Amino acid sequence: MRAFKEISLWKDVSEEKWHDWHWQIANRITNLTQLKQVINLTKEEERGIHDCLKSLRMAITPYYATLMSPSDPKCPVRLQAVPTEPELVRNSDDLDDPTFEDIDSPAPHLTHRYPDRVLFLATDQCSMYCRHCTRRRLVGSQDGAYGPEELEAAFQYLQKTPQVRDVVVSGGDPLTLSTERLEQIIKRLRAIPHMEIIRIGTRAPVVMPQRITDELCDMLHQYHPIWLNTHFNNPKEITAESEQALAKLADAGIPLGNQSVLLKGVNDCPNIMKKLVQTLVKNRVRPYYLYQCDRSVGIQHFCTSVGKGIEIMESLRGHTSGLSIPTYVIEAVGGGGKCPVLPQYLISRNDRKVILRNFEGVISTYTEPEDNRSVCDCEDCQAERAKKELNGLRNFYTDRKIMMEPGELPRAKRRKNAGPVA
Ligand SMILES: *Cc1c(COP(=O)(O)O)cnc(C)c1O
Repeated sequence: MRAFKEISLWKDVSEEKWHDWHWQIANRITNLTQLKQVINLTKEEERGIHDCLKSLRMAITPYYATLMSPSDPKCPVRLQAVPTEPELVRNSDDLDDPTFEDIDSPAPHLTHRYPDRVLFLATDQCSMYCRHCTRRRLVGSQDGAYGPEELEAAFQYLQKTPQVRDVVVSGGDPLTLSTERLEQIIKRLRAIPHMEIIRIGTRAPVVMPQRITDELCDMLHQYHPIWLNTHFNNPKEITAESEQALAKLADAGIPLGNQSVLLKGVNDCPNIMKKLVQTLVKNRVRPYYLYQCDRSVGIQHFCTSVGKGIEIMESLRGHTSGLSIPTYVIEAVGGGGKCPVLPQYLISRNDRKVILRNFEGVISTYTEPEDNRSVCDCEDCQAERAKKELNGLRNFYTDRKIMMEPGELPRAKRRKNAGPVA
């Protein structure tokens, strides 16, 4: 990390201004001329930026820019912030909205995919536009806040949908909104009687820790339970400032989580990832998800193999605190949601024993009890059995289905009474 006074562009900026998030937003690097005053760019990088800025936005907070290496184009912070030519490539497997967020959307700015929780995109503005953004179709094309009426249909949907008990307020970055505007949104959500949990998804602690003010924490504190997930990808992003921001949030009683994206050149290394998760836990942040990079348009160069993710998970479990281990997930194309992926630990079984292997390669057994059936008659289980609504693989366990099959099975068309078997 460089001292801002040593960078010509900011040598006359006062400490007070530097630590004011409004100044940070207003003075973001958005063009090539400014960026050249902060880091040395290769000819290739210059061309990439020039071409990308015709259709994509760049914005780098001065704070985040001080984390970039001035000389190394492979710097993991730089890779996340500085546009490059491959972003303009549309590969054959790229999709604008690979996870169908816009399709599984009952109201503008809302995705309702899972039974009891929703994703709520409260703004399309970010303080820093990540080059690996999966929502590039929405985010970074314009850079302004929505008017209050814009979110009205989303609020109304939530009000009339009692099964939703958990709302993830994301974007864009909701912490680019003023504290006053954010409070209006949170207050509105909190007023919905069935809304048990409000979560905020934000990169502010990473790219603009100045945003985590006492005023913000005092506001959030009034609307508990509030959870907050942030997005650190590399240990270089954890600085004294970001640690202070995390401490403020944790001291306000907000449980903190982290969602990393597995990114080529940024964190596709078991050792970097181990250092990242351990440092997060030291700062009271629980690693929550490690995402396989989505196949959104123009980010293939950030994607790794799935094998790399499995190797990383292998290097964490057992080797470091369970508290530091995120769940590695792949977002299923077409709206299937998060699919967890792990190395194999259960390597064989018969009707009495399962054979397991541990992180050291030790193979051991677990002997199941002679009476290995569990029978539960709690009210919820009884109600579940009576319900008509289908519930994934649970249908097999509750004896409501003996099979499930794809809708377009050619074999089904040849059946006597053509169609799927119930
Ligand atoms: C990730 C996500 C959620 C939250 O999922 P959790 O596993 O509960 O964190 C909710 N809605 C959508 C559309 C999501 O992508």
